[in-house]
Amino acid sequence: MSDRIAVISDIHSNLEALHAVIDHIDALGCREIVCLGDIVGYGPDPEACVDVTMERCGVVLRGNHDDALFRPVLDFNPVARNAINFTRKIMKPGLVRAGKKAKRWEFLRHLPLQHSRGDWLFVHASPNDPLKEYLLKTDLLFCREKIIEALDRTPRIAFVGHTHIPGVFDERLRFHEPRNLEDGFYPFESGKTIVNVGSVGQPRDHDPRACFVTIESDGVRYHRVDYDFRTTQSKILSNGPFDDFSADRLGRGQ
Ligand code: ZN
Repeated sequence: MSDRIAVISDIHSNLEALHAVIDHIDALGCREIVCLGDIVGYGPDPEACVDVTMERCGVVLRGNHDDALFRPVLDFNPVARNAINFTRKIMKPGLVRAGKKAKRWEFLRHLPLQHSRGDWLFVHASPNDPLKEYLLKTDLLFCREKIIEALDRTPRIAFVGHTHIPGVFDERLRFHEPRNLEDGFYPFESGKTIVNVGSVGQPRDHDPRACFVTIESDGVRYHRVDYDFRTTQSKILSNGPFDDFSADRLGRGQ
């Protein structure tokens, strides 16, 4: 077993992607998996994804979609809202709260917002707002203050997800896309760094392969994993309230 830690995020009820990523992590021999949240939402297999996450991840944080199960979803677009309503319907336990359903539900209800380890911070979205704020490359042009504030709140390295777009913000306010990194490896510098680990179950950087990172002794490495998205797509299309867009985007990585 290596001393590497895998960091995954934004699974979004995509069991095929999650299985492929876990297999890859096991093949690498990582000693621990940290999950930055959004286990559910958008996809067809929330219960199975929660089971795998509960069993395999040492740390699991709360994402905005996990959080949305427990409150009215007024601030979601119709696609995301439909998926949350579907997820709540199949996951919410009945009045007699016992068994696996209740265990999953209470697990999701009590997910923490952040995790710190030495000078590393783990959150779903941003050090400024662990649940909801989007840190985007375009913010470096249009909203630099937001990135500067997020770096200020970063102890040294912050790991985030939420945008489904992998990449690294450095203290000189540059964004490093994994495709431009040699072997997907970003060596940590002395300054502060925010690492977006990308998304397992719904990548949006025009690459449909599942994405995650491993933390290595002196940096972070991006991994991309092929998975059978056609199976996920056909489950989405044959399953209740989903629209074609939710299936279609998996094939395009959007
Ligand atoms: Zn997400």
